[in-house]
Parts: sequence; structure tokens; C-alpha cells
Amino acid sequence: MPQPPAQRKARRLVPRLLSWYGKHARDLPWRRTRDPYAIWISEIMLQQTQVATVIPYWERWMRALPTVNHLARAKPEHVLKLWEGLGYYSRARNLQAAAHLILKNHQGQFPNSPEAIRALPGIGRYTAGAISSIAFNLPEPIVDGNVVRILTRLFGQREDPKAKVLQSKLWSLAETLVRGTEDCAALNQALMELGATVCHPRSPNCTDCPVERSCTAHKENTTHLIPAATARASTEVRRIEVYWITRGDRILLRQRPDGFHNAGFWELPNNETCPSIPLPPELEPLATARHTITKFRIQLLAYAVTKPRALKGRWCGRGELESLPITAAHRKLLRQLPAPNEAAQTTA
Ligand code: SF4
Repeated sequence: MPQPPAQRKARRLVPRLLSWYGKHARDLPWRRTRDPYAIWISEIMLQQTQVATVIPYWERWMRALPTVNHLARAKPEHVLKLWEGLGYYSRARNLQAAAHLILKNHQGQFPNSPEAIRALPGIGRYTAGAISSIAFNLPEPIVDGNVVRILTRLFGQREDPKAKVLQSKLWSLAETLVRGTEDCAALNQALMELGATVCHPRSPNCTDCPVERSCTAHKENTTHLIPAATARASTEVRRIEVYWITRGDRILLRQRPDGFHNAGFWELPNNETCPSIPLPPELEPLATARHTITKFRIQLLAYAVTKPRALKGRWCGRGELESLPITAAHRKLLRQLPAPNEAAQTTA
């Protein structure tokens, strides 16, 4: 059956993408291995996070938990500590839940079929495609933000990239690309690399692009219009009071309970997870911090509280704070807050 023009064009791009990737691929630590476990960890860390940030996290993780078995048997608090600062902590919890399933259902061997990979917690179609192609060289497509940008520009697709029709067209093109080669690992990584290093969202370096001659958006001078902008979620401002409660040189911390965002992390008591402590209206905060997560703009205000109601928690010395997993927003506050004895003098 004859192929439609878009599929024929996609197949012609394959040798150029592979040749470019062979010359320009960055030397990233997870590219030096075909270990599916190591590639899986890198793919999950890279969701929502830049390569430069991920490298030290990935290296530390692989030293501490080098196999599925190590991850499955690690204390959840250790896993969260290794993830601290990367955000979106459900990713870390899903990794450990998946490691337990791999031990239970696959005798500790990372599964090598796309369906079994996709059945693991925290793994969607993109991540299953990335692991299947990179670790097992299977012809599985990938479509993420980078690939959407490249394909919509190459094929001049101006519709909303979140629309179902365009999504299915893009997955089909990505499938044609990866099925057009024996080196599926290199082809998919070429797309990732081109999106990350050349086909930038704002000002693509088209002169350095291996597929410039075939790119519709470049020819029509519409790269600034493609991909079409999608509606942004409206932001929500939240203000959280945080209580700085000390006893001698120790600080009271509480663990975020199950069912809350960032469950398992430690933080200063606050009015989100424990009942509000009434504060005199004129009280000035000891420190403030701002933190943005998804659509939330969060402002934290830390107040010294000298006579709190009975609060459960853990009294921690400064040194202990370093070893506990603590959310990024509370780390920011802790860096600004005085040593406990100083705080006691401030509020006396
Ligand atoms: Fe992106 Fe430019 Fe290459 Fe087109 S020619 S894929 S816009 S970098």
C-alpha cells in the first residue's frame, strides 16, 4: 500500500537524524549504559527537570541504589532523601513501588516488553517508549514536548498539539521514524537531542539543524507560531504560616502525613497539615520564602512560637536536618532561620 506523503517524508529524515546524532550527541552518563534500570531512573528524573540538574542526582542515586533490588529494599525515607530537591515526589514513590513489582512479578529483572514496562507505576507511553527503544532497541515511538515541537515544525502542523487528532498524527509519525531504522535507540535519542540542543522553543538554530531543508515551519518562516500555544492553567496563590518551635538547640519538625502532597517528607509545623496556631496579628515573620509548584504560587511565612499547644513531631538538632528528606520550600526557610537559641532570644 502506498505511504502518504508525510510518512514518506518522515522516512527520508531518518538517515540525516542518525548521522547528526552520531556526531553531536552529548556524552551523558546514562548514555554510557544499556542497563534498563539506569535508563529508567534517568528518564523519570528528566521529566520536568533539566539535564544539568539531573546529572548529579542520577550519579548519587546510582551509587546509593545501583540495582532494582537495592531500590526495592531501601528505606522509603532514604529514597526521598536521594530525590530531595527534584520535586514532584510522587515520581520517587512510584519508582520504589515499581521496584517492588519487578521483584514480585519479574524475578528482579527489568521487563523487556513495552506492555510490561508500561504496566509499572509512574510509566506512561512516552517513558515506556524511551526505555524500550534505548535499553532494548525496540521500535517504540516517543512523543514528548521536544518531539512535539520538532514534528509540528517539520510537518507544518498549526493545530493545538494537545488536540487528540494531532496527538495521534504525531505518534504515528514518531512510529514511522523509529520503524525506519535498525538503531531505534539512536533515532529516538536523536529526536530528544535535537529538541534539547537545536530546535529550541523560542529561537531554533535552524542553520545547525540536520533536517532544515525539509522543515516546513523554517521554509515558511513560522517557527514562532508552531507549535501553537496552549491555554495556560490559571495560577493560584497560597499563603502558609510556618511555626518555628524550638527547645534548647532543637527544632520541632513533623512528617507530612499520608494522603498529603509530598507525604513522607519532613517540614516545620504549619497551618496546612496541623491545626492553625493563633498568632498575634502584629507578629512579624522571622523569615519568608516563595515556592512555585505547578499552578501554585506559595508564600511561606515563618513565625517563632514560644508556647505552642501540644504538637507531635521530632526534635531535631541542626546536624540532623541535613540527613532528613525535607521539601524544597522548607529548606529555603531553614537556610534563613536563625539557630534555635537565637530565635528564643528574638521572641523573648
Ligand atoms: Fe526546528 Fe529549525 Fe530544525 Fe525546523 S529547521 S526542526 S524549526 S531547528
